[in-house]
Amino acid sequence: KSEIDFGDPHWKQKFQEDFENRFSLPHLKDEFDIKPIPTTFSLQKRSSQNGYVNDDDRALLKVIKYSSPSSAGAECIDPDCSWVEQWVHRAGPRMQIYFEPGKVKAGIVTCGGLCPGLNDVIRQIVLTLEVYGVQKIFGIQYGYRGFFEESLPEIPLSRQVVQNINLNGGSLLGVSRGGANISEIVDSIQARGINMLFILGGDGTHAGANAIHNECRKRKLKVSVVGVPKTIDNDILLMDKTFGFDTAVEEAQRSINSAYIEARSAYHGIGLVKLMGRSSGFIAMQASLSSGQIDVCLIPEVPFKLGGPYGVLCHLEHLIKTKGSAVVCVAEGAGQDLLEKSDARDASGNPILRDIGVHIQQQIRKHFKEIDVHADIKYIDPTYMIRACRANASDAILCTVLGQNAVHGAFAGYSGITVGICNSHYVYLPIPEVISSTRRVDPDSRMWHRCLTSTGQPDFL
Ligand code: ATP
Ligand code: MG
Repeated sequence: KSEIDFGDPHWKQKFQEDFENRFSLPHLKDEFDIKPIPTTFSLQKRSSQNGYVNDDDRALLKVIKYSSPSSAGAECIDPDCSWVEQWVHRAGPRMQIYFEPGKVKAGIVTCGGLCPGLNDVIRQIVLTLEVYGVQKIFGIQYGYRGFFEESLPEIPLSRQVVQNINLNGGSLLGVSRGGANISEIVDSIQARGINMLFILGGDGTHAGANAIHNECRKRKLKVSVVGVPKTIDNDILLMDKTFGFDTAVEEAQRSINSAYIEARSAYHGIGLVKLMGRSSGFIAMQASLSSGQIDVCLIPEVPFKLGGPYGVLCHLEHLIKTKGSAVVCVAEGAGQDLLEKSDARDASGNPILRDIGVHIQQQIRKHFKEIDVHADIKYIDPTYMIRACRANASDAILCTVLGQNAVHGAFAGYSGITVGICNSHYVYLPIPEVISSTRRVDPDSRMWHRCLTSTGQPDFL
């Protein structure tokens, strides 16, 4: 944005060209002298043209034309709110492919934390590879660790093996954090003869996937690396949503409802629910909105104070005195500035957050004791119960399409890409663009305003 020279009469065209470059997809044919062959992925009972996606097909990234930079959610790039079209590549099966299925050895790996839908994605990747005619399909166990731990052999995968895995949460292959030595992983890919690698994981995993893609290019290995973004927090840039998020919001309803019933049934009851969301409060916001039972929603993007005349505690006091009970929903990454700093990190190097839920619970208890008003606090942390759930119907469909498109993307010859849904269309995006930063709730967005309207909470500052 800052590099745009609005005085240049051609700035719009230049911006568009820059966007095209950034979002062009790395392709194996740019590196290797390979000729495409007709696809082996047949779309039954259709004429040869129908059902395939052309490499030049695009989906529009932004569909609103804002009339002023002050419109809610406007991300206008210049003061006049100029309309700049941003098109991204459409996902799907191509008529021409760059791998002979008989020569493919495909690997699938799942990294990071658990998320509903992992098994659905694994299943669809395997089923789709088989439809193309691939016979050598293997699962790498326990994330990147499985590439170099000798005690963790590859798991052969087939339609028979994966047939019912979607009925359970978790990952058939196991997950892990840390230990991503890119050079060793690529040694292992080379030794195993893997030439299609599907990597399911979050931002860290995708940084790893991109590094693996680059290292393969450096070593002139004809390997296609395709990511499938897994983040229950829905914090990936550009995408409408990521798989597992919908299930998480739905499952969170049970905890919120329990907190509500506990709060309503106790004399001066206060229910407190902590939901996932390390740096983005989408789950807490959507769960609060859909439940309609939340009085206070706290997310990482919106600073708040607990004490003082405008703090959360004072508002809770008001709620207890006026309606007799209250329910609070807090995202795990909210209010970290209120807690003692910690340098602790997990195996992947991510900061370990302090427990804001426990802190708020203690502060509520202390406050009501100080003002000598009875309050009965019930704290619920359903994190692991939600992460381990089976995907709901809408996530299962999302996983199906993403898994299938990951395979189509690899056969189409792309590498260093990831799959997603933008404006309800399925697309391929270059990995660096989606992990350049974290998607966060915009406190000026209509959705956050809707949440505030629903809870009735003030600004806690
Ligand atoms: P989530 O945050 O949703 O749990 P994640 O993919 O971000 O998912 P991490 O534990 O951060 O989870 O990372 C998963 C794997 O990716 C780990 O094995 C980690 O070592 C590796 N990894 C993380 N960051 C990078 C990076 N910048 N470059 C290479 N590998 C990385
Ligand atoms: Mg992460």
